[in-house]
Parts: sequence; structure tokens; C-alpha cells
Amino acid sequence: TMAHSKNFLVLENFIGGKFVPCSSYIDSYNPSTGDVYCRVPDSGKEEVEAAVKAAKDAFPIWSSKSPLERSQILNKLADLIEHDLEAFAQAESKDQGKTITFARTVDIPRAVYNFRFFASSILHHVTECTEMATMGCVHYTSRAPVGVAGLISPWNLPLYLLTWKIAPAIACGNTVVAKPSEMTSVTAWMMCKLLDKAGVPHGVVNVVFGTGAKAGEALVCHPDVPLISFTGSTLTAQRITEKSAPHCKRLSLELGGKNPAIIFDDADLSQCIPTTLRSSFANQGEICLCTSRVFVQRGIYSEFLKSFVQEAKKWKAGNPSDPTVDMGALISKEHLEKVKSYVKKAQAEGARVLCGEGVDSLALPAGNQKGYFMLPTVIAEVKDESCCMQEEIFGPVTCVVAFDTEEEVIKRANSVKYGLAATVWSSNVGRVHRVARRLQCGLVWTNCWLIRDLNLPFGGMKASGIGREGAKDSYEFFTEVKTITVKH
Ligand code: NAD
Repeated sequence: TMAHSKNFLVLENFIGGKFVPCSSYIDSYNPSTGDVYCRVPDSGKEEVEAAVKAAKDAFPIWSSKSPLERSQILNKLADLIEHDLEAFAQAESKDQGKTITFARTVDIPRAVYNFRFFASSILHHVTECTEMATMGCVHYTSRAPVGVAGLISPWNLPLYLLTWKIAPAIACGNTVVAKPSEMTSVTAWMMCKLLDKAGVPHGVVNVVFGTGAKAGEALVCHPDVPLISFTGSTLTAQRITEKSAPHCKRLSLELGGKNPAIIFDDADLSQCIPTTLRSSFANQGEICLCTSRVFVQRGIYSEFLKSFVQEAKKWKAGNPSDPTVDMGALISKEHLEKVKSYVKKAQAEGARVLCGEGVDSLALPAGNQKGYFMLPTVIAEVKDESCCMQEEIFGPVTCVVAFDTEEEVIKRANSVKYGLAATVWSSNVGRVHRVARRLQCGLVWTNCWLIRDLNLPFGGMKASGIGREGAKDSYEFFTEVKTITVKH
């Protein structure tokens, strides 16, 4: 049911194993050209109702399959996506604006790995058992899938983050209704086309496309969806929490960040500078884990700043399908304006913009003149209270400031409402451990960035989220536990 009209794709909802057209549609743009790329169903209550019903109907059979049977299906789905990796990468790059290189090497391989990882990890969980010999009792825990899981994902890593939810949810035996971002729905729709072939029974995975306000909220408010896994902004999470409160739903919330990089004077700058460039600007700075506050110890501040800016200026922005391009387009015109407005505010406050927006000129290919591009932007001499140091910008903008002592930098790094991730750069092992323990965030990378073992918990503290996901954490979130006591 690949519907082409006037050069753009028309997506359909995937409900109960069938593609279903919708009565109204919204436009989704190719951020690198500004043209309409596809039309996305503008689903609401009715479509969500149908999808939840399909998921409920599929639950008894799916939840009673053995983990091994489910595991085989997840592995098959991983193989099928991997087989079409290039087509998925092309679609993700067009839909999101990210470089084809990033989509090929990060997004789609990780989506494949999400299915493989949970196909494997679901086979290895062990529940608890205790013995009370004096009472003649054993106690043990038993875990069962919860039911229909509602999964809501953002636009920055579309298939990567959606499958990070779908894979553990269905591996545990739940059925799902997923709602991807209305701005990046294409790869989710492509994945739906592979479900049948992978052996996913009808109704186990349903995808409803549309906006957060209509489709998302209908899912959050549906009484038969006891669990919501959400990745997105802190503001939306507050609304979801409010809307789901009357139903006492189980929530997993993966939210925004304002992540510091802390660079001590004994850091290996040959590693630190290229990695901090990536951690600031990869995927146009549109990763929740991106660095946006760089604290550099005073002794190396000037040296660091000089080479950091020099290297940032080498990043090439342009057509995302050109494999030599480092920086693709931002997700939308509105988002680009918002990101740029932070740079203006910083200037108005007296900060110095050292490269990028407003400083360097952006030369774009003819076909990309209307795309939503900007250059990696480095700001110095920003006050900690500035909105550029407090609010999530979610674009290729990073602030570099100096610090003197360990104690001081920990305090300053922690002085934001967010608490997702941090990087610490130092060759002093004791200091690395000491600082990592005191940072208020869910993830600390020392002398590296973005290396993940999916076995371990992922998530944030403070305004960056509630709950963790990972092998054991996702298993616990997507199952209901029961303690059973047997007296003999
Ligand atoms: P967003 O909150 O605007 O939207 C996320 C999803 O929620 C979308 O699918 C959207 O349609 C839906 N939504 C919006 N309003 C809703 C409502 N009222 N009810 C139900 N659903 C609703 O976020 P975004 O702009 O798409 O994504 C960027 C944000 O996501 C950033 O803040 C970023 O840090 C965060 N993020 C966090 C992580 C993480 O793991 N912590 C990962 C990636 C992105």
C-alpha cells in the first residue's frame, strides 16, 4: 500500500495488521529542502480506539507465547530491517534532516540492534526466590506482561527511539500502540510493512500517526492503556503526567537535558576536543545527550577554546545526502528560529559568539537554499544564569566557560533543572570517580561520549525524567510483578 501522489508519500495507520487510510492528513517536510516530503494521518480518538482494541484482542495469544518464540520473531524483524538498511537510512535522512552518514551508522543499525538486544535479553531474566525455613515457606516473584503499552517518541532519533520502546515492550509479551512524532513518521511506517513477514501477529504492533495534541493525548487518556513510555520534552511530560493521573498509569519519562562537559587541566585534549565537538554538534545537536555547557579549567581555557573553535569551523553544513557533510538540517523552520533566537539573546547579554550563527557565512547547494540549516555555534563569556546556560536549546549551539576548582565546577554543573548526562575529562582516576559520583545526572561518560551498554540503566534525574530503561529496567517497567508464597 505504498501510495504515491504528486511526488510525496501518503502514510497510513497500521492497525490490527492492516494499513488503514485516515480521513485527514498533515504535511511533513523534508528539512533540507523545505518541500513537503509526505502526508501523515492526522489521527485522533477514533483511530486510537481502533488501535487499542486491536492490541487488546492480540494480547491473550501474544502474552502466552514463550519468550523463545517471541525472541525468534524479534530477531527476524531485526534481520528484515537490516536487509533494507540503506532504504531506511535514506528515508530517515530525508524525513529528519540528519546526514545520511549518521542515519547509516547510528540510527538504523541501532534500531536493528534494539530488536536483537531484547530478543536475547528476554531469555536471560531470573526472578527472585527466598526461603523461610522456620515457617516452612518459599517466596518467589513471578512477572507477567502488563497489557497494551502506549509508546510515544520524538523526532530526533525516530526509528532508533521508537524501537527502543517497541522491542522491550513486545519481548515481554505486551502488545503496543505506538505514536511516532508527526514530523518523522516514515521509517515507522516502513517498519510496519515488515511486521507480517517477521511473523509478528496482527494487532501486536499498531502504529497510529498524528500530532501529540490529538493522537498522543487520545492514547494517554485511553483507559485500556495502563502504561505509557514517553520520550520527548519536559513540558509534554508534565501534560502527560496530568492527563494520565486519573487512571494511575505507569509512566516512563525520558526527557530533555542541559548536559555539561567538565574538562580538567590534565585532560587529554587530543581525545577531548574531537569528542566534545561531536558531543556538542552530532545530529545537529539534536540528541538529548548532547553537550551544551562546556566547563574548562582556567589553565587550559584559552588553548582549548582556540582549537575547539578552529575545529568547529571545519564542520561542513549542507545536503544531508552528501556523505562528506557533517551537519544536516534542523528539524523544522520553527525549531531553527528558536535555536537561532538563543544565539541572539546571548549576544544581547554581552556574550561572545566565536563561530557559526551570525559570524560565519553558510554556503548551501542550490537545492538546499530553503532548508533549515545553521553552522556549529560556539559561545563564550556567558553567565551561568543566562537562558543559554539554563534552558535546553536542542541545536548546534554550545557555551564554553572557565572554572577554577573541582568543588566549584560540580556545583555549577548541577545548578540547572535538568539531570540527564555529563562528560568528565581528566587523567586523574580518583578525580574522575569522585566527580562522577557527585554529578546530578543519570549518565556520566568520562573521557568518552555516547558509548552505551544497553544492559545498564538509561535515563535522567530531576527534570530529565522518571524511570530508567535498559535490559533489567525495561523488563521491570514492561512487566507486572507478583510475590507468591508457598507453604509446604
Ligand atoms: P515533544 O515533547 O514535543 O514530542 C514528543 C512526542 O510527544 C511526539 O510524538 C509528540 O507528538 C508527542 N506529544 C506532544 N504533545 C503531546 C501530548 N499532549 N500528549 C501526548 N503526546 C504528545 O518533544 P520533541 O520536540 O519531539 O523532542 C525533543 C525533546 O525530546 C527534547 O526535549 C529532547 O531532549 C527530548 N529527548 C529526550 C530523550 C531521552 O532519552 N531522555 C531522547 C530524545 C529526545
